[in-house]
Amino acid sequence: MSELVRVEKLHKSFGRLEVLKGIDLTVNAGETVVLLGSSGSGKSTLLRCINFMETPTKGRVYLNGEAVGTEVGGKMRYKETDLCKLRTRIGMVFQHFNLFPHMTVLQNVMEGQITVLGRGSDEAKEKSMVQLERVGLAEKAEEFPSRLSGGQKQRVAIARALAMDPEVMLFDEVTSALDPELVGEVLKTMRQLADEGMTMICVTHELGFAYHVAHRVLFLNEGAIHEEGEPQKLLKNPQTQRMREFLDGHALFKLPE
Ligand code: ADP
Ligand code: MG
Repeated sequence: MSELVRVEKLHKSFGRLEVLKGIDLTVNAGETVVLLGSSGSGKSTLLRCINFMETPTKGRVYLNGEAVGTEVGGKMRYKETDLCKLRTRIGMVFQHFNLFPHMTVLQNVMEGQITVLGRGSDEAKEKSMVQLERVGLAEKAEEFPSRLSGGQKQRVAIARALAMDPEVMLFDEVTSALDPELVGEVLKTMRQLADEGMTMICVTHELGFAYHVAHRVLFLNEGAIHEEGEPQKLLKNPQTQRMREFLDGHALFKLPE
């Protein structure tokens, strides 16, 4: 399997607070990795460092074998134009979908392709419809977001990210703000993407998704990878006290026997 994302000795501090304390992580093409961890353990910061919404304090990020940034005198330098290009190669979906309320679903999915990738509107429309079809919402193309359920809005946000043809998708607690009965449809869409071979890094508290869909689970604790392994082994038989406590706190999401 070929490596798609590699994070090496990544550190991130905000002032005196060290949030990430040397993360090493390799994600191969086609792999789905789930990142678990308590609130404040650094999960979002790690995703944000991977697509350079945050600049790492130390360490390296490689995409497709190529280091992001250039090293000058032992320190990494990042050019904003390069980072803009990099961000187009990494799709990200957040807890809050942030669709433009004054635009239709189709216009929302087209927007970034036109303004960021410079696609013409015919091409952008065609790509948008392919992705809306993929998430099962082609028939909602002309609706405004206010007419959609939260689950549907989140699937539009996923289609919008996919329409940029990213090499990898990052999901940051994309079901956390949804009513419980809407969580399933979004997880189903994510599962379908994983089955289709999309490379994905998912922060989620949905242990069932981790158990059934992830190839690998990482447990982040206080800014370090505390445990990692195959989901069926790790989730049923964590090796550390800390991860056991974390999983006990999720007793509501019982694992299948
Ligand atoms: P998680 O996603 O696991 O809940 P985060 O990565 O959001 O954790 O946050 C980890 C820690 O970093 C928290 O203590 C949070 O307050 C802090 N933090 C995150 N972003 C910033 C920021 N921009 N400035 C200062 N502190 C931050
Ligand atoms: Mg977070």
